[in-house]
Amino acid sequence: MNSRPRSIVVLTGAGISAESGIETFRAADGLWANHPVDDVATPEGFERNPQLVYQFYNQRRRQLLSQEMRPNPAHTALARFEHEFDGEFLLVTQNVDNLHERAGSDKLLHMHGELLKMRCLNSKLIFDINEDLDFDTHCRCCRSAGNLRPHVVWFGEMPLHMNQINNALESCDLFVAIGTSGNVYPASGFYQTAKIRRVHTVELNLEETGSSFDTHVYGPATETVPQFFDQILQPS
Ligand code: NAD
Repeated sequence: MNSRPRSIVVLTGAGISAESGIETFRAADGLWANHPVDDVATPEGFERNPQLVYQFYNQRRRQLLSQEMRPNPAHTALARFEHEFDGEFLLVTQNVDNLHERAGSDKLLHMHGELLKMRCLNSKLIFDINEDLDFDTHCRCCRSAGNLRPHVVWFGEMPLHMNQINNALESCDLFVAIGTSGNVYPASGFYQTAKIRRVHTVELNLEETGSSFDTHVYGPATETVPQFFDQILQPS
């Protein structure tokens, strides 16, 4: 990266929230390890056993709303950067937690949905939810029970905001991926879109992911993210 970027797209994954205490998808001892993806993160799993799916997301929602769950210095650094940077900026997260917005991020898209939202299967209307969701929860639009689901994108479903994300990828001059393994499509293809346009691509991760970014910075996100973004703001 030779000159100061004018337009930046940042993609975050589960790794940025790991140091806040939310297990990543692939952590061997994480919440996901005891729950096969097919059961809790596919439309077919929800059809087969909705009770299990409700329980799984209820557990994750309760964890997110617990006292000790807070944004960490990586979330805070991105929010600070967004407000101090004078160019174009878009933060795209694969995370369904709300730690970016709690840290103060505004230019933020949740491409895989949000844990604190539910959706009516009939009207597709989206509502906030802070409590448990189950068969007995009454829909605020239909006024009946049993037709609400977590507003989370499951495997096999179309991620959200793709037009906006693609437009930003088509005009950015820096792409940064933070704490993502690059295993979940289409987010895993964003860096290739950027590379085809000869945009500088940077990966901040705890460890090597095997993707050919132009720059790799290894270490915990709470250290690498503040350092990397503060550096961009330094006068050249
Ligand atoms: P992933 O679990 O596949 O990969 C996590 C990545 O983060 C790994 O590459 C790991 O090396 C890295 N990492 C772990 N700790 C880190 C740290 N402290 N600092 C920097 N990097 C660190 O996650 P993914 O690529 O985001 O894909 C998983 C899918 O599961 C996503 O679609 C996401 O929606 C979902 N998910 C979300 C959350 C959340 O909302 N917080 C948590 C788990 C899974």
